[in-house]
Amino acid sequence: MYDSRDRELGMDRKITRRDFLNGVAVTAGAALMPWHLMGEDAGKEKSPGYYPPALTGMRGSHPGSFEAAHALRDGTFWDTAGKPQDTGESYDLIVVGGGISGLSAAHFFRKLNGEKSRILILDNHDDFGGHAKRNEFRVNQSFRLGFGGTFSIESPAPYSAVAKGVIEELGIDVPSYSKYVDKKLYRSFGLRPKIFFDKETFGADKLVVNFHPNGGTESEDASKESAEVLKQFLAEAPIADQAKHDLGSLIQDPKDYFPGLTSDEKKAKLARISYANYLKDVAGVHADIVKLLQTAPHGLFGVGIDAVSAQDAWGLGFPGFDGLSLDPTPGKGMNRDAIPNEEAEKYFFHFPDGNASIARLLVRKLVPSAIPGSSFSDVVLAKADYSKLDVESSPVRIRLNSTAVRVKHMGDAASATEVEVAYARGGKVFTTRAKHCVLACWHVVIPYICGEFPEKQKEALASAQKVPLLYTNVALRNWTSFQKVGANSVYAPGMYHTGVNLDLPVSIGGYECAHKPEEPIVVHMMKAACHPGLAARQQHIFGRMELYTTTFETMERKIRDQLARTLGAGGFDPARDIAAITVNRWPHGYAYEYNSLFDSFWLEGGVTPCEIARKPLGRIAIANADAGAYAYTDEAINQAWRAVGELTKS
Ligand SMILES: Cc1cc2nc3c(=O)[nH]c(=O)nc-3n(C[C@H](O)[C@H](O)[C@H](O)COP(=O)(O)OP(=O)(O)OC[C@H]3O[C@@H](n4cnc5c(N)ncnc54)[C@H](O)[C@@H]3O)c2cc1C
Repeated sequence: MYDSRDRELGMDRKITRRDFLNGVAVTAGAALMPWHLMGEDAGKEKSPGYYPPALTGMRGSHPGSFEAAHALRDGTFWDTAGKPQDTGESYDLIVVGGGISGLSAAHFFRKLNGEKSRILILDNHDDFGGHAKRNEFRVNQSFRLGFGGTFSIESPAPYSAVAKGVIEELGIDVPSYSKYVDKKLYRSFGLRPKIFFDKETFGADKLVVNFHPNGGTESEDASKESAEVLKQFLAEAPIADQAKHDLGSLIQDPKDYFPGLTSDEKKAKLARISYANYLKDVAGVHADIVKLLQTAPHGLFGVGIDAVSAQDAWGLGFPGFDGLSLDPTPGKGMNRDAIPNEEAEKYFFHFPDGNASIARLLVRKLVPSAIPGSSFSDVVLAKADYSKLDVESSPVRIRLNSTAVRVKHMGDAASATEVEVAYARGGKVFTTRAKHCVLACWHVVIPYICGEFPEKQKEALASAQKVPLLYTNVALRNWTSFQKVGANSVYAPGMYHTGVNLDLPVSIGGYECAHKPEEPIVVHMMKAACHPGLAARQQHIFGRMELYTTTFETMERKIRDQLARTLGAGGFDPARDIAAITVNRWPHGYAYEYNSLFDSFWLEGGVTPCEIARKPLGRIAIANADAGAYAYTDEAINQAWRAVGELTKS
């Protein structure tokens, strides 16, 4: 039942959302449905109309994708599994995980062993690409794309020769990006990054110009920090007068809080203190400043400034460090994201569906009949034929909706000639064999599916606690309200989603972005599910539980409320203006990156857990971005290359 506020928000409106699975409303209870009852339609990928990118509602780790793995974790899977059925299939390689790392592993294996190599790729989701996920929308006559995960080709450090090689083999012309993006579009309508202050956190709902160069959002079109913008911000922000004074001083009257220490000594101190504590205890600023900046690093790290070191905050350009006269070279223990690199910054390309275009180009190479076309730009509008992904006549087969549940050598790892992989699909368990196996799945899963690794390695694998995130796409009938409030991106430190962005205006391969405010658009919203005050890994564990147990209905209500409050002054009506909502839920999101506050080995040197975790065993090698503890596409590719190389040597 909806109350009057719900009706104002449009909770009762028929929009495109999919909160039903096999006719059953998806609630927290449904998330607990036994895996073997979740769907008996093995082979559904071949049915007409099977087209996951067009599904809306709860996507990402969608219902039906994780129950088998969670039953394995809970030790209950084999109670209901029955005897596995042998498919009788035999491959040169089985890849577990159909993300960019798994797809790249298949690509490299064929390059090294010939195009006739027989390869099976298993993935538990209903679509391929892993985090590189495509969301499609139709609003009136307009077709709109959104990125459900991986946003763009970008990395803090330059792409390796191997990763760049793959991008070039796929034909992606990274330097041509400026041809496709209309960098001036939003500015031409008077839009700029803003901050939304909410009444629960700051005492008043208010939208104010963003004073920070990139505002902690993903907007590329970020405002330049300037005295004028800061002045306007300080005049309008609903924060205490003392906080305004303190922020002005932090930026315009910087102090050396550590006089007498060398630059290295200062950096060593900054590496061991959180940015929140630096602001409070060292700079002594008003608490409102800490509240304002708390969620600024969410988009990068999935945690707030309580769990980001002051040294990383300095590298990222947050306020409060100009008076320390730090030598610009990176300090020990800095996160790679916080180390500026000009060459890397230039290597940027955003497809309208994010790096799903990379996944689709890889699939086109592996199974050409599944994705028509021949150029890197025509892939944007190419319609994938999911019925072709897993056919006997193709040397490479991609089997979706299939969770690997057991991976073992047929005999002793040192002398076995085959690996057997058991997977759950459509409520049943099947086995298949291969000469080699690459585990390109999330590292926390591996100890549950492959018992052969040594205990120390299993511990290292389990320490790769992924960062939980929501990447939400809301299709709007128009963006006139954004125009009226003058914002193209909104940083919202107190709200459910802390980032709200109009997507980068990219037109490519026949796809046209929204050029006018009257046209439909996809708004991207980002939430990091974190629990400030705890160590980063603990925050990720609690955040993961939160995302798995929050219903779509609750998320939808929060989305509608947030957009209504942020854009209300621009005439936004959530009941009228929202055409569709897709929440890409990633309880296992970014790869865990090491952090000088919590990982002493990162600060002091020594072997990192990912180096222990990725050791091959017999005919099984380990890939995924987790294997490099680096949440970027280039690392997913680098690790696939290493893993395939190890197998070829074995
Ligand atoms: C929301 C989000 C945004 C991101 N944005 C960017 C960006 O803009 N640029 C960038 O470079 N990187 C970005 N990343 C990092 C991104 O993770 C990497 O770029 C890359 O796509 C990771 O690829 P992968 O193959 O290593 O992992 P994944 O994409 O996670 O693929 C692994 C796959 O294995 C599957 N799997 C797990 N267990 C099993 C099992 N037992 N059986 C079968 N399959 C299994 C998983 O479900 C998944 O589909 C982002 C990540 C997230 C979550």
